[in-house]
Amino acid sequence: MGKLWNIAVVGATGAVGEQMIECLEERNFPVGNIKYLASSRSAGQILEFSGKPVMVEELKHDSFEGIDIALFSAGGDRSREFCPSAAKAGAVCIDNSSAWRMDPDVPLVVPEVNSHVIAQYRKKGIIANPNCSTIQMMVALKPLHDYAAIKRIVVSTYQAVSGTGKKAIDELSKQVGELLNGRPAEVKVYPHQIAFNCLPQIDSFESNGYTREEMKMVFETRKIMETEIGVTATTVRVPVFYGHSESVNIETGRKITVAKAMELLKNAPGVELVDDVANGVYPMPLDATGQDLTLVGRIREDESIENGLNLWVVADNIRKGAATNAVQIAEILIGKYLK
Ligand code: NAP
Repeated sequence: MGKLWNIAVVGATGAVGEQMIECLEERNFPVGNIKYLASSRSAGQILEFSGKPVMVEELKHDSFEGIDIALFSAGGDRSREFCPSAAKAGAVCIDNSSAWRMDPDVPLVVPEVNSHVIAQYRKKGIIANPNCSTIQMMVALKPLHDYAAIKRIVVSTYQAVSGTGKKAIDELSKQVGELLNGRPAEVKVYPHQIAFNCLPQIDSFESNGYTREEMKMVFETRKIMETEIGVTATTVRVPVFYGHSESVNIETGRKITVAKAMELLKNAPGVELVDDVANGVYPMPLDATGQDLTLVGRIREDESIENGLNLWVVADNIRKGAATNAVQIAEILIGKYLK
C-alpha cells in the first residue's frame, strides 16, 4: 500500500467542507488520519469519514500538528488567520476563500489549466482555489485561448444560492415556502428577497461600481491565464440551488469557427460539450449538479465582430467550483511534490 496522508478539513460542517469530505471518499484519496475542524458551535458534533465516526473539533492555532494537507473552507478571515499556523506546522494549505488568491507568493490553480504553478506552494505553504465562477470559465476557455488567443471576455453569471453557503440554501427554500403559503418572505442572507427574483449584486460594491465578485473574475482570470486579458463581468444571483451558469462572449486574436471550437472543447480536459440545439440540448444547472465536468454549449459566432464567439458554460459550483478543484490539487501535490 502507498503512503497515507493526514488531512484536516477546516469548515467541515459547511456546504463546501461536506463536499470536500465526499470528494475525498469518492476519489479514494489515500487518507491516513482525518481531522474535522469548525467553530466552537460545532465542536463535539459527530460526522463520518468512510463510515467511521469523526468528531468535529474547534479550529485553533495548534490544530495542525502531524497534518500533511489542510483543506480550508471556513471563510476568508479564518484562512488569513490560520493558514500561516497550519503551514508553520508543516501542512500544505489548499484554501477555498479569497484571502490568498492574489498574493504573488501563492499559486492560484485550476488543475486542467495551470497545474504547473502548484510547484510555487513552497513559498508560503499555501495554494489558492479560484472563485467558483472563475474556475468553470477557465476550464471552458483555456483550450480556446491556446488556439486563438483570447483578447477580451464579456461574462454574465447566473449564480446559485449554494455559492453563499448553507444559510443561503436554507433561505431560498424557506422563502419559497413562505411565499407559496401567502406569507411575507423573511430576508436575512441577501440584501433582497431571492425567491422568484434575481439580484445583480454578489458581494459588496467597489468604488468603480463593480462588485467584489465581478472584480475577482477580472483579476483571477489574468493571474491564471498569465496574461493581461480584458475581462468585464456582471455577476447575478438567481433562485437556483446548485450550479452556476455563465453567458461568455470572447473576442479572439484569430478566427475560431464554431466547428473548431466544438472540436477543441470535445477533447478538452474537464469539459463536456453539450450542444445540440436542434434537439433542445444545452447545458443546464440541473444536469451539471452532482458531477465534476464543466458543461459547454450554445456555441455561436458573434456576428457583431470579426473574431468572436458566444458560449453558455455551466458547472456544479460546490464540486468543480470548490471541493473537487481542491481535492484535484491535493492529488497532484501528493503525486508530484510531497514525499
Ligand atoms: P458555509 O456553508 O456557511 O460553511 C462555513 C464553514 O465555516 C462552516 O463549517 C463553519 O463552521 C465554518 N466557520 C465559520 N466560522 C468559523 C470560525 N470562527 N471558526 C472555525 N470555523 C468557522 O459556507 P461555504 O459555502 O461552505 O463556504 C466556505 C468557504 O468556501 C468561504 O470562504 C467561501 O467563500 C468559499 N467558497 C464557497 C463556494 C461555494 O460555492 N459555496 C465556492 C468557492 C469558495 P460552523 O458550522 O461551526 O459554523
